[in-house]
Amino acid sequence: MKEVIIVGAGTGGLSVARELSKNSNVNITIIEKGPTSDAKDAYKYYDAWDKNEMELIKTDLVGGSSLVIAGNFIPTLVEELKEYDIDITPQLEQLKEEIGIQTMPETHEGKINKLLKKASSELGLDMKDMPKGINPEKCIQCGKCAWGCPNGAKWDSLEDLKIAKENGIKLITNEAVIGLIAEHNIIKGVKTNQGNQYLADIVIVAAGGMVTPKLLRTVGIKAGETFSVDPFITVGAYLKGANQDYEIQMNKYIHLPHIVISSHTSHLLLPKIQETHPDATADDIISLMVKVPDNLKGHVYMNEVVKGIDFEDASLLARGAAIAGNILVKAGADIKSLSSTHVRGAHLIASARIGDVVDNNLETKIQNLYVADGSVLPKAPGMPPIYTILALSRRLGQYLSNKL
Ligand SMILES: Cc1cc2nc3c(=O)[nH]c(=O)nc-3n(C[C@H](O)[C@H](O)[C@H](O)COP(=O)(O)OP(=O)(O)OC[C@H]3O[C@@H](n4cnc5c(N)ncnc54)[C@H](O)[C@@H]3O)c2cc1C
Repeated sequence: MKEVIIVGAGTGGLSVARELSKNSNVNITIIEKGPTSDAKDAYKYYDAWDKNEMELIKTDLVGGSSLVIAGNFIPTLVEELKEYDIDITPQLEQLKEEIGIQTMPETHEGKINKLLKKASSELGLDMKDMPKGINPEKCIQCGKCAWGCPNGAKWDSLEDLKIAKENGIKLITNEAVIGLIAEHNIIKGVKTNQGNQYLADIVIVAAGGMVTPKLLRTVGIKAGETFSVDPFITVGAYLKGANQDYEIQMNKYIHLPHIVISSHTSHLLLPKIQETHPDATADDIISLMVKVPDNLKGHVYMNEVVKGIDFEDASLLARGAAIAGNILVKAGADIKSLSSTHVRGAHLIASARIGDVVDNNLETKIQNLYVADGSVLPKAPGMPPIYTILALSRRLGQYLSNKL
């Protein structure tokens, strides 16, 4: 029997667990920092890092950030990964089936989404339907995707956990891994904040792009020298009775070179819009998210995360904001009220990159120490990364299962 520890019961960790637990010669223990919770309460576990110029967001609980996704599933970096001899096409196909990825039917399109599509088209811009991991039969169109789906309509990693549990994995919650143990360049186990040591033949670190590099550093791996986040802003304006906050978030998108523009609401816009419309409520906002792929210039050190935007990132965001503003005004928004949120990042990636910190089987230079989360992505896609993170992690689970 081989002992395997997975650090983090999030998107990547549970995806590996699901595949690897099919092998009955393997004993899997997952150690998770956060608690178990209903998907609808996931918003209570947001952990926002706002100690530099950009706010970085994730959720720390069983299921990880998968619980608060907008449900967008676009295959990204597929061709780039082939340069590292990694073909995730079979796993993408597998996931499409398992998750039920599809675009939403007309009944779930949303009034403002329709309006934005029409306005975009009048400006010569092609606004497409976003592929979603949302079951329209269960979706009540409450707009709460990023809070945690209250109706079980949106796919999340708890589905992977369910299968892994049926296959006998053990899950430890409310215990954080604080260091790895290696001897003679071979992994031996992990140490936790409860003073425990857990020994294993294989350790898979899946604590997310902002934590995994710190853990790798405890055994001398120089991770976190790069870090990307796909920065985004939400640009919005006043439109009486828009009620966009009750529509499926990011249901449509425009893909331009290096820029994605997508329907999205943010309560952060309200105080800014109230400067010109004091009576405005959250229901009177029409808005679009602008997201761009950033450089790799961030760092994740032991006690510090550094992530800013450079001239190129800023100019792309400005270009996207100008286009978004035009669409919003064409759709009927009041131009005087046009506002933007501050810059945020929700794709915490590329801090233990393939070809740099891990090889094409996601193994580090320490034998039997693997990584399975957003940190392995080689670059910022500027697009939803979860489909690719899940595929890479399923691939690792299958690889280890065959190997063992
Ligand atoms: C609001 C929001 C909306 C998003 N929408 C989309 C979308 O629609 N489509 C898309 O593709 N992407 C989306 N993303 C991004 C996507 O959710 C993430 O890229 C992806 O879930 C990251 O997976 P991961 O495995 O790297 O990390 P996570 O899923 O965050 O997993 C990390 C896990 O490790 C645990 N952990 C952390 N530290 C420790 C420790 N020391 N010891 C033990 N456990 C630890 C955490 O609690 C967590 O469970 C969104 C993100 C956010 C925040």
